Amino acid sequence: MNSFQYKDGELFCEDVALKKIAEELGTPYYVYSAADLRTQYHNFYNAFKQTDRLICFAVKACGNIGVLALLGSQGCGADIVSGGELHRALKAGIDNSKIVFAGVGKTEEEIKYAISSNILMFNVESMQELDLLNKCALELGKKARIAIRVNPNVDAKTHPYISTGLKNNKFGIPAEKVKDDYIYASKLKGIDVVGMHCHIGSQLTEVSPFHDAAEILLDIIKDLRKKKINIKYLDLGGGLGITYKDEKPPSHAEYAASLAEILKGEDMTLIFEPGRNLAGNAGALITKVLYTKDTDEKHFKIVDAAMNDLARPSLYDSYHTVQSVDETEKTVTGDMVGPICESGDFLARDRKMPDVDIGGLYAIMSAGAYGMTMASNYNSRPRVPEILVDGENYHIVRRREIYSDLTGPERVPEFLNKK
Ligand SMILES: *Cc1c(COP(=O)(O)O)cnc(C)c1O
Repeated sequence: MNSFQYKDGELFCEDVALKKIAEELGTPYYVYSAADLRTQYHNFYNAFKQTDRLICFAVKACGNIGVLALLGSQGCGADIVSGGELHRALKAGIDNSKIVFAGVGKTEEEIKYAISSNILMFNVESMQELDLLNKCALELGKKARIAIRVNPNVDAKTHPYISTGLKNNKFGIPAEKVKDDYIYASKLKGIDVVGMHCHIGSQLTEVSPFHDAAEILLDIIKDLRKKKINIKYLDLGGGLGITYKDEKPPSHAEYAASLAEILKGEDMTLIFEPGRNLAGNAGALITKVLYTKDTDEKHFKIVDAAMNDLARPSLYDSYHTVQSVDETEKTVTGDMVGPICESGDFLARDRKMPDVDIGGLYAIMSAGAYGMTMASNYNSRPRVPEILVDGENYHIVRRREIYSDLTGPERVPEFLNKK
């Protein structure tokens, strides 16, 4: 499903004209389609009909509490990687019993916050973390439910920055070693062993790495069963890719089919932690052309969005499709760049794109995941608003920042404060 469509030559998100939002709220802005988010969630969930399953949306992909509340209302849980994300998930009304917590550097404060919030489980990344969890749980007079994150050493065949399941990554515990660690964990008084976790990377466009990882984890689970350690939750992480350009990621049904054989007869709840797959194509960044510039070498579209709003092109050299909000046949080849004082500030490079003139609007597509969550205030640019479209209505789920937001937490020290 794609709710970004032209109607009478103008780009809409569902039944709302993107130009209308721009006129009323200015640019740039992020816009998300509620219908796309719902559809993507239910498609994922329904593909795994044969088993009990829980979808925990990866909050780091799109943490807006309006978006989280929408997903939560559909039954979705949350995969968090910090105390801040736990705060977001709870604030959005996500059921605490559907929250899983990953990350190699959980602090004592974050651990205690999550134990007190009675989350479903911690995805433990090291034995030191496990000991700290145990200590915190005992101090609080509670038990911490845990899964251990296994590093299955499978190649996700994706960008090295977003590959996380290889031996040289910082994540998880090697498969060879993890059995002993489970036995150790099962003896700790503050720990309740309930699951096994892995997350091998992001933007996967093949199912075989998922299948291989699941197989490795299941072997360990079967061994542990002989030692009376029962794993109730098999958490296979996120990572299912989306189409940015011409990638052909597996469908939910293909993903489900690739696991069906190895999971047959297993009585476990599957957990998935999709981020990009649910939100990526449900969002776009809308930006206005400020200037155009021609050098001997190149044509530039200078737009009002920049790398601080959408970091992925400069960070990963990633490709986002660019559409004009007013449909046009005219094309031009060049760079779309932002106002930031860095040569790395581009949103599209050497791109054949619709030719939009000064004052016209572009939609930078597939920006719903790792867009706003990676935005910064670099160059003291107020962060842009986030809009959730639902049918013919739009809702401001984050207002545009104003200048006083930039300096709000800052102070001129007393000794310089001459009035
Ligand atoms: C980033 C992350 C995810 C989500 O990854 P996507 O590729 O967006 O699906 C899920 N689980 C963990 C542990 C992560 O770090």
